[in-house]
Amino acid sequence: MLALDYPAWFLALMITPFGLAAGSFANVLIHRLPLEEPADRNVITKGSHCPNCQAPIKPWHNIPLFGWLWLQGKCAACDWKIPGRYPLVELLGGLIFAASVYLFPVGTLIWFKGLLCAFALLVLFFTDYTEFFLPDVIQFPLMALGLLFTLPQLFWPEVTITVLVGDFHFLRADFFHNGLQLSPLWPLLGGAVSWQSSLIGLVAGYGGPALINAVYKLIRKADGLGMGDFKMLAWLGAFWGWGPMLGIFFGGALLLTVFSLPLILTRKLHGQSMLPFGCFLALATFPIVFYGPAIWAWYLGTMVK
Ligand SMILES: [Zn+2]
Repeated sequence: MLALDYPAWFLALMITPFGLAAGSFANVLIHRLPLEEPADRNVITKGSHCPNCQAPIKPWHNIPLFGWLWLQGKCAACDWKIPGRYPLVELLGGLIFAASVYLFPVGTLIWFKGLLCAFALLVLFFTDYTEFFLPDVIQFPLMALGLLFTLPQLFWPEVTITVLVGDFHFLRADFFHNGLQLSPLWPLLGGAVSWQSSLIGLVAGYGGPALINAVYKLIRKADGLGMGDFKMLAWLGAFWGWGPMLGIFFGGALLLTVFSLPLILTRKLHGQSMLPFGCFLALATFPIVFYGPAIWAWYLGTMVK
């Protein structure tokens, strides 16, 4: 039976528990990847334990969200107050998986790519937020994967049929992605990213900000951006192409400015303060990937008039 035969809400309900489990794994990555000791960074074979007292966590206490509710937000062994970040990340994992049904045709390559991107952004947002750290061990494989995702369409070219239904709604059947599943936001996304656009996005994502940083360094004698930020732009460029990568860069910079301006004006922040730029890049990715072409067309329209 095709996924097509089920309503979106049902698929979202079915997939959410996997999202909560993925969120639970994201918590492990967020906590362990920034640690100094290589043995502590083991996220595969090392079992779950309390970060405070190291006591192993019982399987039924480790059930996403419910374990936290059952324990009333405290470690069963040492009463350590579990930070609100843990249930929040689990919840976000569930929401990402549920939302994926509405964004991409379920079970297709583009759906998997979108899900992987969102999961990576969830992890990177919180490692950058808590530790100002964007782990290479996540970002380098993503660069390679972004490029690899563009290869299948070389052998199975994309064929897109757009069907207009009435004045507003249209169904887009995308044969390369095998996407007959209706997903409301899916038609907003452009065609598949070409390997050329992916490669340019990867190289420019790394090189562009590196160049800006070199200029900034000459003027201010300090790093404006961290190396992790370039790597993040590089893999986002490999995933979504060079155009959206530029959009994410400027969108992230805009969000950072809007966020930091009141802090600078009230002198809570000064010129040398660090802000996690990766968090703002992560927040800019979704609106740019889906609404970037519309924003760009609107911008060009206002320029022509
Ligand atoms: Zn404990």
